Amino acid sequence: MIIIENKNLQTKPTDYKQLGFGKVFTDYMIMSKYQDGKWQEIVIQPFQNLSLHPAATCLHYAQEVFEGLKAYRGDDGVIRLFRHRDNIKRLNESCRRMCIPEVDEDALEKAIIEIIKLEASWIFEDEDTALYIRPAIFGTGNELGVHPSKEYILCVILSPVAKYYQNKEDYVKIKIEEHFHRVGKLGTGTAKTGGNYASSLLSSVIAEEEGFDQVCWLDAETSKYIEEVGSMNIFFVIKGVLITPMLNTSILDGITRRSIITLAKQMGISVEERKVSIDEVFAAAQCGELTEVFGSGTAAVISKVGMLKKAEQEIILPRLKDGVADILLSQLKGIQYGRIHEDYGWITTIQE
Ligand SMILES: *Cc1c(COP(=O)(O)O)cnc(C)c1O
Repeated sequence: MIIIENKNLQTKPTDYKQLGFGKVFTDYMIMSKYQDGKWQEIVIQPFQNLSLHPAATCLHYAQEVFEGLKAYRGDDGVIRLFRHRDNIKRLNESCRRMCIPEVDEDALEKAIIEIIKLEASWIFEDEDTALYIRPAIFGTGNELGVHPSKEYILCVILSPVAKYYQNKEDYVKIKIEEHFHRVGKLGTGTAKTGGNYASSLLSSVIAEEEGFDQVCWLDAETSKYIEEVGSMNIFFVIKGVLITPMLNTSILDGITRRSIITLAKQMGISVEERKVSIDEVFAAAQCGELTEVFGSGTAAVISKVGMLKKAEQEIILPRLKDGVADILLSQLKGIQYGRIHEDYGWITTIQE
């Protein structure tokens, strides 16, 4: 690994709460190129623009994968990375689906830990902030024929972030999407790839115009079963049981989702991973059995849903305090910020 010093460091923002999500970037980035059939040595270099050939495969055919993980600074001042090995592993799984050459997981892990040490002063001691780490790999070869690219760039950029849903209430409004699907049944839904997001934009723009925060996707085959919401997995509490759609060939296997399932079971909450139909959810709401709905993802952690709407039908969720979502959120954050000990090996502390 090569480190190139940045002699022009930015002044850091003082108002952490106003950081938003992914708007400010730190002084360094990780960079590696795939050329001549292999990944070249990783470089940590000053944050900078990239120069690409106008025919680069990623620009025309969306050959791209990405990841999202966070480092947190606890009340004790210590920096903690959460389940980063899972993210690196998933990055390679996405690579396989998108015909991108896999990266050396150990080398990428080392580089991520090294850049966090370099950028430690960007991780603020504030419960609502974290350092969001965004690895991405994209085809940069310069041929217009439709083939996997022969060249790639791996870059990792870092962004200090505050709450994902800023200036909004604590609850999100969700529209059940009946006119579009996120991905096909045997499509690319299990890969974290930009194209899945490109195809979701129109739907979210329309939903936002209608006053919603996110859309809830239904399965592409029957439009009956719930898949996930926007960039989050989804959970329902029905008669005290925590229910989430089981993984299939189109749902993204979220690391926050996995963590929630593990923590809920540990806390004695019954968990069911199974097919969840939209009719079941509306029926449970009608007879008062649906008490909570929430989304899970690295960016938003746990987002409670206040309203779910499908055509003319609307569910308004009770605004429970200390419900299942709150209990799991405080457990998860407790682990991430170092207040609660865990034995799963999820936390890696970073020595500054
Ligand atoms: C990243 C992502 C999630 C959440 O995954 P985490 O690992 O929990 O961050 C859920 N759905 C989609 C479509 C995603 O891209």
